[in-house]
Amino acid sequence: MASLGSVREWHDETDVLVCGFGLSGAATAIEAHDSDPAADVLLIEKMPERHAGGNARVSGQSLLISKDVEALKDYQRTMSATNPIPEPMLDAWARRMVELEPYIEARAKEAGAQYIHGSGWSAREAVLEYPELGAVAAVAHSATILPAPSGVWLAFKANVEKRKRIRRQFETALVDLIQDPDTLEVFGAVVAVNGVRRNIKARRGVVLCTGGFENNLDMQRDYFGLSEAYPLGSPGNTGEGIKILQKAGADMWHLRNRGQSGGIWPGFRYPGHPTVFLRQMFWQSFSWIDVGADSRRFIDETHEWQITHYKQKVQGEWIDTPHHRVMPMHMIFDENTRMYNPLVISVMTWNTVVEQYPWSEDNSVELEKGWITQADSIEALARKIGREPAVLQETVRRYNDACASGTDAEFGRNPATLQPIAKPPFYAIEIVPAIVCTGGGARRTIESEVLDHSGSPIARLYEAGELGSIFSNLYQNGSYLTEAMISGRAAGRNAASLSAWDAVRHSAA
Ligand SMILES: Cc1cc2nc3c(=O)[nH]c(=O)nc-3n(C[C@H](O)[C@H](O)[C@H](O)COP(=O)(O)OP(=O)(O)OC[C@H]3O[C@@H](n4cnc5c(N)ncnc54)[C@H](O)[C@@H]3O)c2cc1C
Repeated sequence: MASLGSVREWHDETDVLVCGFGLSGAATAIEAHDSDPAADVLLIEKMPERHAGGNARVSGQSLLISKDVEALKDYQRTMSATNPIPEPMLDAWARRMVELEPYIEARAKEAGAQYIHGSGWSAREAVLEYPELGAVAAVAHSATILPAPSGVWLAFKANVEKRKRIRRQFETALVDLIQDPDTLEVFGAVVAVNGVRRNIKARRGVVLCTGGFENNLDMQRDYFGLSEAYPLGSPGNTGEGIKILQKAGADMWHLRNRGQSGGIWPGFRYPGHPTVFLRQMFWQSFSWIDVGADSRRFIDETHEWQITHYKQKVQGEWIDTPHHRVMPMHMIFDENTRMYNPLVISVMTWNTVVEQYPWSEDNSVELEKGWITQADSIEALARKIGREPAVLQETVRRYNDACASGTDAEFGRNPATLQPIAKPPFYAIEIVPAIVCTGGGARRTIESEVLDHSGSPIARLYEAGELGSIFSNLYQNGSYLTEAMISGRAAGRNAASLSAWDAVRHSAA
């Protein structure tokens, strides 16, 4: 926290300072602008313009649309049972969710883009993550804005750019808040531009929309207990919003839950790429298995784990699948799988959407790069990847026997996906745990006010989106992007409605 007394000079002034140009930052800036035509809005983003957009830009763009307040409340209440959302907040969130669709359609229309039902890249009209917890009644359908990839983000970006009173400044990182040390009231922020600290006066309020801490391994370890986890999304999401809010005197919530809301997915990690690739979900052939540290299988690999965000039901509880507990992991496959399945999905993730890495259809380029290990026998493959040959051979033999009998007694894999690893050469690719979202941050109200340790709002301080998300533990597909809209709208509207603090102070003096 920096005090007003430490400010020698204001390098810039605005009415509403919005920090982070992902979806919640865009929604905040649009709403602040539209709710007060006289307000000056400054939107800062720490990444260069070509790398703005956060996780929103590289996400699956799936939006949850609900038509039933009570059903949505029941569903979310059950998913959040291990860390309950305050009931008035849950109620208000559900009401805003049910009213959200026309707002999304308006953003698409303004951008000249098409709003559709479904995801735009899979045949499903809706993903129902937990039917037994109430998904069927709560979820009307999924929706998105075209084109894929990035359609929702592109539409909101276009909405921001259309509004000329929203000033955008890139390569500008929020580093601290300027506050009254006694009351915690926020007067502005310290930002870093090319490493130089600058003070920005925020006359009405500051909104933190800086996303999660996916790309901060120390925080993953300290706050979530993961020993290794790598981001699928923006390398800019390094969690400093959380640290700044802690310094500002905010209370924290949702940093550690029973499971990681967005799940822990199988990813591939290579030098020169700060984020990871996401493994394919739509297979043309199934001659592959995953093995853990003991060179044995650990899961029904071809179950559609993506539908439950890599959660599995164990003793009646939905918990993260074991991928992060069985490292090092390898996917073992044969020539059929290599030839007919690009091993990564391209419609989302930073590497494929922003960096536009063109993963080859038959994986031959990545084989050439040495990202995939090849051998003529399983025994030789095991040696090349540092595994005990006899154990890996036994694992593949047992799996191939299951294919021959049509029954996977060990893990219950769908018989239609029991295809033997039989056609040489054989291949291995290392899998790492990959992260979609983190969620934790400052405790907030449905009006996006940041709360202090006594439960009171910190004056002029707001937070939106994944930073301090209301979700913990289980989460329904499409809820994060819609939450970014709802919380961003509230933050923008409320910050813009305030009187300028310097005017209030002068008139009081
Ligand atoms: C692969 C993937 C798929 C996903 N699919 C879906 C989906 O289909 N549906 C869904 O609802 N959700 C999905 N999500 C989650 C969703 O993308 C995020 O929860 C959402 O984007 C959060 O929005 P946000 O505005 O809070 O953060 P972000 O969109 O991540 O934006 C945060 C921004 O803040 C910037 N920033 C960080 N620190 C600073 C700083 N100090 N100063 C200034 N700027 C800073 C970052 O650079 C970034 O641009 C997915 C995520 C991933 C990674």
